[in-house]
Amino acid sequence: MRNIKRVVLKLSGEALAKDKGFGFDDATIDNICNNIKKTKEMGLEIAIVVGGGNFWRGRSGRNVERATSDTIGMLGTVMNGLRVQDALEKMNLETRLMTAINMQEVAEPYIRRRAARHLEKGRVVIFAAGTGLPYFSTDTTASLRALEIGADVILLGKKGTDGIYDKDPNKYDDAKKYDRLTYSEILQKRLQIMDSTATSLCMDNNMPILVFGIDDPSNLVKIVEGKEIGTIVKE
Ligand code: UDP
Repeated sequence: MRNIKRVVLKLSGEALAKDKGFGFDDATIDNICNNIKKTKEMGLEIAIVVGGGNFWRGRSGRNVERATSDTIGMLGTVMNGLRVQDALEKMNLETRLMTAINMQEVAEPYIRRRAARHLEKGRVVIFAAGTGLPYFSTDTTASLRALEIGADVILLGKKGTDGIYDKDPNKYDDAKKYDRLTYSEILQKRLQIMDSTATSLCMDNNMPILVFGIDDPSNLVKIVEGKEIGTIVKE
């Protein structure tokens, strides 16, 4: 993609845990943050939406009421937000962590106009606690925040793949990668790349999504350089 100025980068919890599956993989987080720094130096305005799957996912919390389970999930994303903020600040980047659930002792409350101002001033903004509402996902959060702050594109960093395929490339040798897809194709083909709420929100408001492999975080730099990698989802 050419001429990207402002992005929302979605980092799933899994991407931060890498092969550990749970918690943090320090070297991976440093590698991702180092590449975020490079994109900042290239002039990109970057807001990060952190997931929480490396700690807890609401829908898989057995014996816990769904709304409560989702709240546990949202709090997990705050731990990820703090961890990523720490790594970025150690690299001398200025950051702001904003949460959709108020916890002013640890982070700023999310205020749209303030987030936009932070970006204009060159700060990396990290959005945590999802939308603050149960039954939503951090993919939907990324779609919502991207629209709110007027991002050019959502960069959806995926672990274990370098784009969207017609079937699981880790299971099928003949899996075919898509360079480009429309939102309705994702919905119709039921491609499990992001949930339908997140996809619909982008579709209704024309927000492009670039799905790329985060296992090689230097892909972030390649995207900003205009190299065509991953799968672009748009109208
Ligand atoms: N969550 C929520 N509302 C939101 C965003 C997230 O309830 O707006 C909860 C939900 O339970 C979800 C968990 O937080 O499973 C962690 O987020 P997600 O599964 O999207 O993280 P990822 O898979 O990207 O690591």
